[in-house]
Amino acid sequence: MLATGSSPNEPNFAGNWVWKLKILPKIQLFVWKCLLMSIPTKSILAQRGFNGDTCCDWCHEDQESIAHVLRDCPIATRIWAESECPSQLRKSFNLDILEWLRLNACFSSHLPGKGHQWATFFLFGIWNLWLFRNKRLFARPSSFNLRQAVEN
Ligand SMILES: [Zn+2]
Repeated sequence: MLATGSSPNEPNFAGNWVWKLKILPKIQLFVWKCLLMSIPTKSILAQRGFNGDTCCDWCHEDQESIAHVLRDCPIATRIWAESECPSQLRKSFNLDILEWLRLNACFSSHLPGKGHQWATFFLFGIWNLWLFRNKRLFARPSSFNLRQAVEN
């Protein structure tokens, strides 16, 4: 949880930076829900009393938390490793997930030789990781076939 004010109803809630981001409103809302821990990952659903496995169905290596889906799952790790992450931000990948989100989403410097900012790339990155996770989770027939194909 956030060090100061973990609920938006508290006056010192440390998440209002989200509303200053220059990004699509749906992505802004997604980041906001991440801060509130209200993205329905399997581990969050389990905390709310839903039964079912909490394992990431991509890597089967860890619990499916927000940090796992957006940063720590091998597929996310690979995307970030291949990205042109500014050197100042590399250490943020070892920080608490909320701090990681804030530092990267607010890093407005342009990437060398690119027309866009790191923050924009980062925000589209986490959004697409989330969409990708939903796609594979809800497209049962194809993921089932894929798994069968791998196991046979
Ligand atoms: Zn995983």
